[in-house]
Amino acid sequence: MSDLSDLYQEVILDHNRRPRNFGTLADATHKANGYNPLCGDRLTVQLRLEGDRVAGVAFEGSGCAISKASASLMTDAIKGGTVGDALALFDRVHGMLTSPMDRPIDEAGVGKLAVLGGVREFPVRVKCASLAWHTLKAALASLPEPVKTE
Ligand code: ZN
Repeated sequence: MSDLSDLYQEVILDHNRRPRNFGTLADATHKANGYNPLCGDRLTVQLRLEGDRVAGVAFEGSGCAISKASASLMTDAIKGGTVGDALALFDRVHGMLTSPMDRPIDEAGVGKLAVLGGVREFPVRVKCASLAWHTLKAALASLPEPVKTE
């Protein structure tokens, strides 16, 4: 477990320092806002769906290192995949974050997102890590943004 803890630290710090896909999407089709009152984390997730494909994804907001790193990892993981892939990944990550600490993480199912399992040691942080995923799910379920004509 200590190997994963070290990796956890490293990945969280890296994604917090250099968040991937941070910013706004000019041509977003779906978006949602998320808020974690326990910590004060706020996120906006924007998606550009082309048919069934997540052609673009971006997030912005302010929050703790874990919420930001989790959002960064989330955007990397779903970009270019299908909506079905993104929802399946939500289920696997959510299952991992809410499983007991002594339950081994199914790394085959979540890939490098396994590092997020490290937050199970700190129960108040689980909400920080899951915020981006709940916001993603809300964005996928949101009504398409009106098409802008300019
Ligand atoms: Zn937080």
